[in-house]
Amino acid sequence: MAEASTQSGGRPGLPMQGVPQPAREEVLNLPRVHISSHPVMAHKMTALRDKNTAPPEFYRLVKEIGALLAYEATANLALEAHSIETPMAPMVGRRLAGGIGVTPILRAGLGLAEAFREVIPDIQVWHLGLRRDEDTLQAMEYYNQLPYKVDLQVAYAIDPMLATGGSAIDAINILKRRAIPRISYVCIIAAPYGLLKLSQTHPDIDIYVAALDESLNDKGYILPGLGDAGDRQFGTF
Ligand code: URA
Repeated sequence: MAEASTQSGGRPGLPMQGVPQPAREEVLNLPRVHISSHPVMAHKMTALRDKNTAPPEFYRLVKEIGALLAYEATANLALEAHSIETPMAPMVGRRLAGGIGVTPILRAGLGLAEAFREVIPDIQVWHLGLRRDEDTLQAMEYYNQLPYKVDLQVAYAIDPMLATGGSAIDAINILKRRAIPRISYVCIIAAPYGLLKLSQTHPDIDIYVAALDESLNDKGYILPGLGDAGDRQFGTF
């Protein structure tokens, strides 16, 4: 996590000012990082980023992109045999072996949680409130609805923007305190800086990304990015 820089006189400066950042090319091939190359995703991402896209359309696009991400992130889930009868004959089908949890990081993760529910309606949703301090970019937990007794095959921490990586790393730390066999992280846009931090801190998780951007600005916002994902979903400008 970035340390807050200080201006002369000891006042805190902008949190990412002067902080070295990796180039996009340096993080393209990190292990267990999956960056979408699907043309439909690229098409929807352009509409999402456009500053003229208003909140209702923006929220709809977050859900559509989230459904594509959910599809990619669930491709390797475990299945178990399940006997049924079709109207024609008995057969042994397959069903997901064990529960699935999603942890949306509030509030920007809510649209992605809706998308996951549309793809897999019986997932459990565990809300986690992490607020980032705008001066230090440290993540602070203010709300936690994670159950203590869990029986899942996988949990997904979901947040549209992987910027400095602080909230993502904290969310995975919190999930790792529960006995979940597999944890993954899903986001719409990642900055190289946050992606590298998350991947190095938690090398044992899969990370699914719709688009990898160029850098963070001095305030820790992603460039070119899309602005504030929470404000754009919920119309709070
Ligand atoms: N959070 C956002 O909503 N946007 C960014 O660019 C970075 C963090």
